[in-house]
Amino acid sequence: MNKPTSIPGQFDAVVVGAGFSGLYMLYRLRQLGLSVKGFDSAGDVGGTWYWNRYPGARCDIATPDYTYSFDPELEKEWTWSEKYATQPEILDYLRFVADRYGLRPDIEFSTTVTSARWDEQEKRWTITTGRGEEIRCRYYIMATGCLSMPKSPDIEGVGRFGGQVYFTSRWPHEGVDFTGQRVAVIGTGSSGIQVIPLIARQASQLTVFQRTPNFSIPAHNGPAPADRLKQLDEDRDGYRHAARWSRIGVPNEPTDVLGVTASEAVRRERFEAAWRQGELVGIVSVFADQLLNPASNDIVAEMIREKVRSIVKDSETAEALCPKDHYFGTKRPCLDTGYFDTYNLPHVRLVDLRKQPIVSITEDGIETADESFGFDAIVYATGFDAMTGALVAADVTGRDGLSLKEKWAAGPSTYLGLMTAGFPNFFMLTGPGSPSVLSNMAVSIEQHVDWVAGCLKDMREEGFETIEPTELAESGWNQHVQDCAAITLMPTANSWYMGANVPGKPRVFLPYIGGVDGYRQACDDVVGQGYLGFRLTGPDGARCRDGVIRSMQPDVAMVLELIATLGLPPMETLSAADARALMAATAETRPPGPEVGEVTDGVIPVPAGELPYRLYRPAAPPEGPRPLVVYFHGGGWVLGNLDSDDPLCRDLCARSGSVVVSVNYRHAPEARFPAAALDAFAAVQWVDANAIELGGIPGQLAVAGWSAGANIAAVACQLARDAGGPHISGQVLICPVVDSDMTRLSYDENGDGYILTTPLMRWFWDHYADPADRGDPRAAPLRGDLRGLPATCIVAADFDPLRDEGVAYARALEGAGVPVRLARARGHTHTSVTMVGVVISGAPVRAEIGQALSDFFPAPNHKSS
Ligand code: NAP
Repeated sequence: MNKPTSIPGQFDAVVVGAGFSGLYMLYRLRQLGLSVKGFDSAGDVGGTWYWNRYPGARCDIATPDYTYSFDPELEKEWTWSEKYATQPEILDYLRFVADRYGLRPDIEFSTTVTSARWDEQEKRWTITTGRGEEIRCRYYIMATGCLSMPKSPDIEGVGRFGGQVYFTSRWPHEGVDFTGQRVAVIGTGSSGIQVIPLIARQASQLTVFQRTPNFSIPAHNGPAPADRLKQLDEDRDGYRHAARWSRIGVPNEPTDVLGVTASEAVRRERFEAAWRQGELVGIVSVFADQLLNPASNDIVAEMIREKVRSIVKDSETAEALCPKDHYFGTKRPCLDTGYFDTYNLPHVRLVDLRKQPIVSITEDGIETADESFGFDAIVYATGFDAMTGALVAADVTGRDGLSLKEKWAAGPSTYLGLMTAGFPNFFMLTGPGSPSVLSNMAVSIEQHVDWVAGCLKDMREEGFETIEPTELAESGWNQHVQDCAAITLMPTANSWYMGANVPGKPRVFLPYIGGVDGYRQACDDVVGQGYLGFRLTGPDGARCRDGVIRSMQPDVAMVLELIATLGLPPMETLSAADARALMAATAETRPPGPEVGEVTDGVIPVPAGELPYRLYRPAAPPEGPRPLVVYFHGGGWVLGNLDSDDPLCRDLCARSGSVVVSVNYRHAPEARFPAAALDAFAAVQWVDANAIELGGIPGQLAVAGWSAGANIAAVACQLARDAGGPHISGQVLICPVVDSDMTRLSYDENGDGYILTTPLMRWFWDHYADPADRGDPRAAPLRGDLRGLPATCIVAADFDPLRDEGVAYARALEGAGVPVRLARARGHTHTSVTMVGVVISGAPVRAEIGQALSDFFPAPNHKSS
């Protein structure tokens, strides 16, 4: 295989699309010596830049970055004339590239690929075109772009209008002269915002129909940024390398300034600098947390709204142009040239469709709920069926007759955004699940194409004919894509990123927001691990190393990376005193946790002396007593105190609506086994006996703990059962230590690299209990009698050495007839679930804990008297 084939109608590869990605793909495939055929429904190269010829169309990534970088000679031969190139100039560039590498002869223009079908016997694709041709190929590559399938306007009466109709996405080649005309523009996304000021220059009347105002900043177009050109001049390779390993494909020093904690002066200075710079990369990174934290986002959003109000003279129009229904950046922000100023012109009017929706397009114009408008021309800038539209429309049928449309009925499913299971040798460039539209496309496209070319080369060298992702790898990637989005504000918006602009389209976050750098690393890691998650087949057999490339929650991974940069000594190399000091120092830097109604400190008299406690009372109604939860902090029986788990206790209190009593017990090595366990039991007895004074409901008592705290909580339950009381309604054990056996698989898998390590766990045990005592059920409750214990919720984290003992305890309790809820902290470590306000992905797990606590008790309005 893979020798250029000369059989008519047979090619090694077919590439659909002759835009940025298709052209480079053709070039790379040719370099590999493959026979290639390209198709495009357009009359020439250019892709999106062929079709979107409306006046004002420009790229909104600065030209030094929006350019191919695969060939230094090419870079030398082309000079961009502006910071943001116009559509004609970009089209010229792509024509120049096509000619320079002689790509056109391999491309059939004005030809639509109407279907593609996989032949399992032949291990080939059969491609059919609108001209009736049939072509067979080994590899089928869709380079059809993310924003190439225009959305049909979902407006009553479209088609009825007797005047001229234009779509920004299909602009006439000969151009349009609007001089003296009454023109309507529907849509105020990037296309609308670019075209409106230019139409306003010609039209006698311009009426803009706006459904959702968009955030836009001035592009400040002009010459290409001199600093960037200088950097490129001095070190082109270094510059390109930095772009490839940046977050959005443009070199940019990430900030660690948080909007919520920055001073007013810093906020203003950073915002104004980004406003002056006029680049998307700057305005989306004013603060490190602006896409994560609503409060931080509001700061940037309000500053932009202030600017709009300062530009637009009519205050009602200004207010209507101020976006308020979505967080900044959750819909694609725009760059404009004089957009808001356009509304100061006397012949330009904004119609706010939120106030007067369109009822219908009529023969003469547009009718809204309040008015009838007459027009000579209507321009639709209504957007695209983004990311999936063009792929699904191409009628791709994989193995066993499964079509892509059927497979993706509930939303797209891909591995790395590059391939999809059931469709061997079918590649997508910038497909759903890749960074694509959230990045500088030029950089992302080159990465994709290079990966596909590298893959085909590797296959050839290793004698494989087909490649296809496994279901496991693909579902793992889909989950990772959604996990990355879930920690941001992105899913909250009705954006095309979410498929929300197309009626009936499944609501799924389509691109990958884990960064160009993170994505590149994942792709490289897949290859480095022998094409992890891909099944490769050839005449000599198959190979498949199945697995999931990213299963850790993205914010957990970020925290681990951050901790690694601090260069802290391993805890187990420290004295107990130094370890405690280190833990206290880190506790000081975290967010405080949610507000609760009241926090009071006190002491519990126990046989061994006094135990400090901190009580958290919920803020919300109902008034009156609440169930009680006695909580024990983590820290391996050695570390921790009332402060260490304070944010978590607040969170548990707020979520469960219970009074939480956090108890500080005696620590090892000063007080060794069984001191902590006995203290825990004594504390539970005291809280039960003093329920009324503590604001609790007598008889409604649960215990909870994290790590070693969960260990003594579990032991307290066993001791209470043995002693005939107090009655405990339930126990929540978060990543509990329940056994001293350190040979379980989760120790093998997670004993290194995730904060709680095997050596640290050994250090904890050595401080706490003699080896002879470690089998005692008061140290290892898994080894005790589990009958008659209260209902239990156990949290087991994927990347925790203790995961399997938590699971074992759940199974053993079930076996003993105890109702058990096992909450899997997917993608979490031993500590991450407890990082309130830091690890956003821990919130759903803590919500489940809060629910479990509530479920232990009768509903508040049915509580026993
Ligand atoms: P868009 O962002 O989806 O905007 C479509 C606009 O049409 C929105 O304002 C939308 O309102 C409105 N609309 C859609 N259906 C409507 C209806 N039935 N009634 C009233 N209004 C309706 O599309 P776009 O402006 O073409 O941009 C799409 C993407 O292409 C951009 O986000 C960007 O990624 C890319 N693009 C880039 C550039 C550039 O590089 N400079 C230029 C153009 C486009 P709602 O928001 O209420 O749905």
